[in-house]
Amino acid sequence: MIYCNYCPGYCCYRLEGAVLLLTAADINRLARHFRISDGEARRRYLENRNTFKVRKDGSCIFQARDRMIRRCTIHEVRPDQCRRFPYDKPCPYLEREDLLEQIQPRIERALFSLSPRRDEA
Ligand code: SF4
Ligand code: SF4
Repeated sequence: MIYCNYCPGYCCYRLEGAVLLLTAADINRLARHFRISDGEARRRYLENRNTFKVRKDGSCIFQARDRMIRRCTIHEVRPDQCRRFPYDKPCPYLEREDLLEQIQPRIERALFSLSPRRDEA
């Protein structure tokens, strides 16, 4: 979707009631990418049997924090659900203010915490 190229990755934040569900094929693709076993990939990156760990702010652990676009650091091997979202429909994050209100402050906090202090710039 063309908007994804200009989007900070709203869909990479976990919201209440939503979850990224991984398949065995997703985990195997990730494991091959990192040249580790499926079991090791599960230990390192999964929170439970079926989903990735997230940071305190709900962002996926594979989301790059230092840029506003191209934020998925495993884009070539990202899970099937990430590839298919928003399932040939308009992206809900571009239409629903209530979703953006939950996520935008988290994105701004993450970027602000990475910005160099003025006296260091
Ligand atoms: S699917 Fe929607 S929220 Fe996700 S990156 Fe694309 S435009 Fe942004
Ligand atoms: S794997 Fe990539 S595209 Fe999927 S939620 Fe994580 S950062 Fe977003």
